[in-house]
Amino acid sequence: MDLKLAVFDFDSTLMDGESIGFLAKKMGIEDEVGEITKKAMAGEMDFFEALKKRVALLKGMPVKEAKEALSNLPLINGANKLIDFLKKRGIRCVCFSGGFMWGVESVSKTLGLDAYFANILHHKNDMLSGEVGGYMMFNDSKGVMLKQIQALMGIDEEVTLCVGDGANDISMFEYAKYCVAFCAKDILKPYASHIVDTKDLSQIIKIVQ
Ligand SMILES: [Mg+2]
Repeated sequence: MDLKLAVFDFDSTLMDGESIGFLAKKMGIEDEVGEITKKAMAGEMDFFEALKKRVALLKGMPVKEAKEALSNLPLINGANKLIDFLKKRGIRCVCFSGGFMWGVESVSKTLGLDAYFANILHHKNDMLSGEVGGYMMFNDSKGVMLKQIQALMGIDEEVTLCVGDGANDISMFEYAKYCVAFCAKDILKPYASHIVDTKDLSQIIKIVQ
């Protein structure tokens, strides 16, 4: 397969968990936030609304604690192996995350990704303001960004792989020939070319070989 670009979702795809869940846990509001995350990822709630609602619940959290909660996030099993495989073949690897830069940046650097896009938690006076901005705010943000990157690279969907697990990955699946639903919510599966239900990203090596 002559792949040129591989795009990965972050939460529950490259990273074992949901970024906002790690923040909520530190604040003791895990259940409330988890319920909204579940609805957003299942496509039962608009992504933008769900993101704003959950980040608003983090208002007042010290920046130091938020950064701590998003440091040393656990990688999904097989992530290193798959990214190494792709990079050795000259395939550009990129992360699109509806989560947050503080977590996505260090994981992306550890994995050796070529680029990463996520959201930014606004803060004032060393505390989270409860507001959020960034690259991945909407249901269709990943599709919009993928089209831009393909245009910059001069490539198309024929040489593009996408991997994700939730409703906000649907938009990028529409611009890739190879779309892997990885331990995914039911709403994403009909858009996938391949389904992996084993929690091991290196299973994807068999698909792209
Ligand atoms: Mg995800």
